[in-house]
Amino acid sequence: MKNIILFGPPGSGKGTQAKQLEQEHGLIQISTGDLFRYELGNQTELGVLAQTYMSRGRLVPDEVTIKMLERKYNEHTDAVGVILDGFPRTVAQAAALDKMMASRNEEIAMLVSMEVDSEELVQRLLLRGEDSGRADDANEVVIRKRLQVYQDETHPVLDYYEQQGKVIRINGMGSVSKVFEKLVETVSV
Ligand code: AMP
Repeated sequence: MKNIILFGPPGSGKGTQAKQLEQEHGLIQISTGDLFRYELGNQTELGVLAQTYMSRGRLVPDEVTIKMLERKYNEHTDAVGVILDGFPRTVAQAAALDKMMASRNEEIAMLVSMEVDSEELVQRLLLRGEDSGRADDANEVVIRKRLQVYQDETHPVLDYYEQQGKVIRINGMGSVSKVFEKLVETVSV
């Protein structure tokens, strides 16, 4: 099974591209953000806990996030491939993911990093906030906090996979369809 990490800051287009890869190429999208929002929609204990972090632009603690990801991954052991969207977001999550893969005789094939200028990210997220229904997109203070958290806690994940020679960078500034073309070429599905 092909395990791909789709990596990048909030607003870089991970979710949009992952959904399209799922629809057109049969890869399974696993988005930890979507999973938290689903839990919140059902007012579960996990969802209510996650919301206290999401609403402030902070990361949900590693332990609960890793556990949730593992549960979801286990549902898709017969998939041709999996796109991890929004996970791992810390080096501790990356290390836990490697361990989880190794115990299943699986591995991360590559990390595709979507590169987008930071001011463009703010504009995209504010625009998305107008109709996404996501409170964390509608507030510029929370958006800037998320970008800061990305720089401080998530960006180091790139170095982690760089050391394994697994990072591929693509320019995420173009149109959705242009970026998708590049992505399909890169992941060769
Ligand atoms: P996203 O939909 O990927 O933008 O995620 C929305 C929010 O969910 C993030 O700002 C975090 O609060 C939380 N979240 C999503 N994925 C993770 C993760 N891997 N680790 C910690 N928190 C996460």
